[in-house]
Amino acid sequence: MLLWHEDRPKEECGIIGLVSSSREYDASSHIYLGLYALQHRGQESAGIATQNGEYLNIKRGNGLLRDVFKPADFASLKGNVGIGHVRYSTTGSGYLQNVQPIIARYWGGMMAISHNGNIVNSRELRDLVLEKGSIIRSSSDTELILHLISMQKERDVLKAVTGVLGKLRGAYSIVLIANGRLYGIRDPYGFRPLVLGRLKGKGGYVMSSESTALDIIGADFVRDVGPGEIVVTDGTQIGSCGFKGGQRNALCVFEYIYFARADSVIDGIGVYDVRKRMGRELARIRGVKADVVIPVPDSGITTAIGFSREAGIPFEIGLFKNQYVGRTFIHPGSDERDMRVRLKLNPIKSVLKGKRVVVVDDSIVRGTTSKRIVKLIREAGASEVHMYISSPPITHPCFFGIDTSVKKTLIASLNSVEEIRKFLGVDTLTYMPIESLSKSVGKSMNELCYACFNGDYPLPVTEDSVEGKLLLEDYRVLEM
Ligand code: SF4
Repeated sequence: MLLWHEDRPKEECGIIGLVSSSREYDASSHIYLGLYALQHRGQESAGIATQNGEYLNIKRGNGLLRDVFKPADFASLKGNVGIGHVRYSTTGSGYLQNVQPIIARYWGGMMAISHNGNIVNSRELRDLVLEKGSIIRSSSDTELILHLISMQKERDVLKAVTGVLGKLRGAYSIVLIANGRLYGIRDPYGFRPLVLGRLKGKGGYVMSSESTALDIIGADFVRDVGPGEIVVTDGTQIGSCGFKGGQRNALCVFEYIYFARADSVIDGIGVYDVRKRMGRELARIRGVKADVVIPVPDSGITTAIGFSREAGIPFEIGLFKNQYVGRTFIHPGSDERDMRVRLKLNPIKSVLKGKRVVVVDDSIVRGTTSKRIVKLIREAGASEVHMYISSPPITHPCFFGIDTSVKKTLIASLNSVEEIRKFLGVDTLTYMPIESLSKSVGKSMNELCYACFNGDYPLPVTEDSVEGKLLLEDYRVLEM
């Protein structure tokens, strides 16, 4: 049996934390709804932890939210404060000990943490924690943060957390609960997003990876948590402090290209609007005579709309996406490579036959899926295929929470654009230049991370970082 793998950058994780001033408030069901709005950020596992006085309740499991949670679970997930997580593993494989939230007992009681991002000095931190006598259960970098907090001499959670953050290098947006309080933390570079909202009509606050989660639980957007900021709230009062400035802001530009939902607003900029501007920019970079513009669904849709408007070429749905494929097993003996793509995308022949087709997609990682998509379009009768990609060529691995950590697997690291064009079998291939991407987002070059396109990493990456998501997996325990 073969497992479906998509050939595109893998989302990292989605996090949410919520606290109400009312002890009667049911945090878990609201966190669950919020996680639904974040499911696109991770489909490997899901979990919710709540705090009810001194008790900490948790439910975690592998799979989508709908697989992990049953209605009866919420009766035992009591508490007016809680956090949730959906995961795609970036450090540590997908086995059960790594599923978040991760909980621990510390000197002040119980604590739970959800983390989005990747700590690049995690091996060094792991060695430090082991030297101090800690026993580690998981191979995830997130557990190390809890150990480091409990090792702090400070007996005040905020001070202890602040002390630990000075030791972390890399990308982290974190929600953490301890002592009935919710803490939201964003790393000094702001690699991963984190927004703050206020619960409507009740005293309380919510922090989440994306603003869409606020919308679904009926919370008002307040602001983004800033790079290098800790926000603390008990549901009634809220405070904030800065802990360390980064050399520069480095929000991952892929949040706008692909990761975030089009209805999210990140750092004050609407993702939908950015993607439409990307489409317009692409159309200006290289004009083309074509009959129809089609997206590779879903993330290419908004960009293709922008392209179509700018180029004056009709927009059509040329590839129909089966929404229910998910992680699919393909029967041995089938033509697995083609079947993977056909299961998910079916060409609409009446749109494509005899047409000069512009196809818009967000990125090319290995190129294998793009090649099969082109084959589908050609088999449906397209006379020409012109591919437009709304990111620059991915030439370098990411160490900050995206699973593209092996350089040699990236087609653009070894091949020129012309070689990639030939490999894909398209008539023209147009990538978005970094400058045009920056213009589409509306942020200057030094406010975003573009390292996977130009190798200009916002902070130094070590040899350890190159080992990718199994970095801490020299020992491994399997829990079924
Ligand atoms: S290296 Fe690329 S994927 Fe990673 S954070 Fe930077 S822009 Fe995002």
